[in-house]
Amino acid sequence: MVGEGLIQGLVETARNFFGSYVDKERLTTVQFPEERLPLPEASRVFPILLFDGGDPEAGLRCVACQICEKECPPRCIHIEKSKDKKPDFVGKQQFYPAVFDIDVSVCMSCQICVEVCPFDAIRMDKEFELSTSDRFGGLLWTKEQLAKPNDYYKKIHPEESAETDERRVKELADARAKAAAAAAKAKAASAAPGSAAGNGTEAVKEPEQKVTPQ
Ligand code: SF4
Ligand code: SF4
Repeated sequence: MVGEGLIQGLVETARNFFGSYVDKERLTTVQFPEERLPLPEASRVFPILLFDGGDPEAGLRCVACQICEKECPPRCIHIEKSKDKKPDFVGKQQFYPAVFDIDVSVCMSCQICVEVCPFDAIRMDKEFELSTSDRFGGLLWTKEQLAKPNDYYKKIHPEESAETDERRVKELADARAKAAAAAAKAKAASAAPGSAAGNGTEAVKEPEQKVTPQ
């Protein structure tokens, strides 16, 4: 019948309209901002930089490799690499970003920076109430503004963060096992007759552990 779909649509609308007075489930809207619907796991707005532990500077995962800066389609990431290095979560000495800015007025929330980061250092935030009257300074976010603890990431993306944390715990265990094996090998070599022990050669040390994944 011609117009059958239209009539069915109007009937459904009428059922929801009158039903919403007696059944809250039929309300298709909420009274925002007093009421808020939970955001889906995959929702995303702008990037954040993750850090482990309580110190955003020491625990920042970013090693300033600049891959995200090169891959960002609108080129809204600006990174300046540090001159010195600090240990990452497995104890390896790494550079860190002396400057890490994102111009969120240009960012198009594509998440490519997240996909290409080999260090699980950058993720997408869900915060969307970000209006400001300062077009330039207010939308150019610095490293300090972008840094968020891993606990925050767990809260906004519980499933994704669980997968990331599991992988990082395994990476840490592998690195520790490798360091322990290297230390044992060096110890055995120094104990062998005619070894370099005592002539100034030092055994390999276990990596310095500064920050562990949360
Ligand atoms: S989400 Fe996309 S546009 Fe925004 S900083 Fe990342 S790569 Fe660039
Ligand atoms: S966020 Fe990731 S990809 Fe970008 S510079 Fe830091 S470590 Fe490299």
